[in-house]
Amino acid sequence: MRHLAYTAVIAACFLAGTLAGWTSLALRVDHYAYDLLTRFTPPRAAAPESVVVAIDEETLRARGGMRRIRPILTEALEQLGAAHPKSVALDVILSDAGDPVEDARLEAALRATRNLILPCELVAGAAATNWEEPLPRFISAAVAVGHVHPEQDRLDGVSREISLEASVHGQRRWALALEAFRIARGGEIIESPDDLTIGSAVILAPRASAGRPLLLRYVPGGIPTVSALRLRDNISLLRDKTVFLGITALSAARDRLVNPYGQNIPGVEVHAHAYETLARGEFLKRPSDLTALAEAALFAIAAGLVFAFLAGWPAYAAAVLVVVAAHAAPVVLFRQDLVFPYFGPAAVAWLSCAGAASYQHFFVRRLLRRTESEKSRYQQAIHWAAHEMRTPLTTIQGSSEIMTRYALSDEKRKQLTENINSESKRLARLIQTFLDVERLAEGQMELKREPFAAGEMVKTCLARVTPLAENKKIGVSLDTAVEGMLTGDRELMEYAFYNLLTNAVKYSPAGTHVRIAAHYHRGELRLSVRDQGIGMDAKELKHIFQKFYRTKRAEASGEVGTGIGLSIVEQIVTHHGGRMEVTSEPGKGSCFTMVFAATPHEEAADRRG
Ligand code: ADP
Repeated sequence: MRHLAYTAVIAACFLAGTLAGWTSLALRVDHYAYDLLTRFTPPRAAAPESVVVAIDEETLRARGGMRRIRPILTEALEQLGAAHPKSVALDVILSDAGDPVEDARLEAALRATRNLILPCELVAGAAATNWEEPLPRFISAAVAVGHVHPEQDRLDGVSREISLEASVHGQRRWALALEAFRIARGGEIIESPDDLTIGSAVILAPRASAGRPLLLRYVPGGIPTVSALRLRDNISLLRDKTVFLGITALSAARDRLVNPYGQNIPGVEVHAHAYETLARGEFLKRPSDLTALAEAALFAIAAGLVFAFLAGWPAYAAAVLVVVAAHAAPVVLFRQDLVFPYFGPAAVAWLSCAGAASYQHFFVRRLLRRTESEKSRYQQAIHWAAHEMRTPLTTIQGSSEIMTRYALSDEKRKQLTENINSESKRLARLIQTFLDVERLAEGQMELKREPFAAGEMVKTCLARVTPLAENKKIGVSLDTAVEGMLTGDRELMEYAFYNLLTNAVKYSPAGTHVRIAAHYHRGELRLSVRDQGIGMDAKELKHIFQKFYRTKRAEASGEVGTGIGLSIVEQIVTHHGGRMEVTSEPGKGSCFTMVFAATPHEEAADRRG
């Protein structure tokens, strides 16, 4: 039961942490952690294979602005031809017809460009999303068309990945950077569910996630960039490179993006970074949701085990280790090119440690409280037993002493022997009662369930209490016939009823009377003991069934007692399905009534038969 509750606590912490990991705050934190890790764990240094040819502010200013983009492109392409790049990927979508002369010149320049790759983009139109492509006359000059859809994070606008494939209406396009890479490597794209293969290059890009996302590994120093205006001076930089030609001017570029380094870069450069990511072949991999969950579960389990098997400061020290591990895991894994979430597992680790610690703390405290109360209960019980045994022991001791010391008549000797015998029997009964009550309190004992006549039990008790009462000059009488059969443990019931009688005698002055009355009505037997003793007030009445409670009046009366008898009486009565009723008035007397379910004589006798 305890293990189950503990496991439930840990599971709840795991669930809460995991759910917290899916909130937008958590995603922001994950992104922030990713950006930091990117900065501290850059890809290995390698000479870039690509160059950005930038139509920058300077170019636009010198060549007449965006209005004249076609002549500007034409001129750039013409000059690029002389530099013999490996391929040219253009990041300007020429979807509208322009000036016929300009278009014709541009078409000629495009046709003259070796390995030309043109862009296309998904554009949401009035009716549906469609591919926006360059004019067919331009496309016919290209060896490939690749999409340039920029991928920005919904939450913070940072560009961390691109989709390697995008499709609409069954028309699929590879990313511009991927087409450029394919042409650079000279092969076909071979698809598998987990990756793309081009020649000997394997690109990790599982199809499971929509669009085969590729996490970009930005080149820390940026991609070498040449202004379109200064191509002539930088021809040597371009030889055998993959050229990305696009607009970088702040005033004109539609697609300026922020990278994890916090740099604001033009879209055309993002394609070049994607290209470099492909060329370098070091891919960052996101784990599946299940793997990430398993990682978080590991921390929850670790926290659970720590507090299950350790206690005190070793437990807390180990918990700190678990939490540190949860924070360090993404860092270590990132070095292995694995991008694990940061927030979720850390939240799970914190919550599980806190949950497990609190549970154990409270559980241990509860356990301690219970053993303490058990200990004191046991001590009290011993105290009571020792006290109760004193009287019969004194009688036995006294009688045996008299027998050995004096020459006694046969009759006297017989009487003393009987005394010893009956008192030792009482002692044995007392011990049995003590053990029974202890076991009853611990819930270990099943009550005996045998029918017995209530009248016989009352008579036995009356006989036993009579000498005691006579000693104190108190009269005891049974005023009514006792009808009914009780079911249960006769010994225990006798003990309880006898206790009421001795109390009545104990707490009454000489010359008074104790009356026993029985009333049987409709299956309920009421057995009452009424005295004319010291009585109790209403406040005292509330406590008399508590262990060790004694009224001031009782203490003052000089009668010894432990204050435990009535608590046992009540236990016995309730275990028999009955209840106690008490009325009392200080100085006037008390009436204790036991109420039980009972059966008439014949019925019980029939059942027995
Ligand atoms: P004990 O008699 O050993 O003190 P009990 O549990 O039998 O312990 O009784 C608890 C207390 O209830 C007594 O100490 C006494 O103050 C009060 N009490 C019990 N019976 C009577 C009674 N018949 N008249 C007055 N007070 C009583």
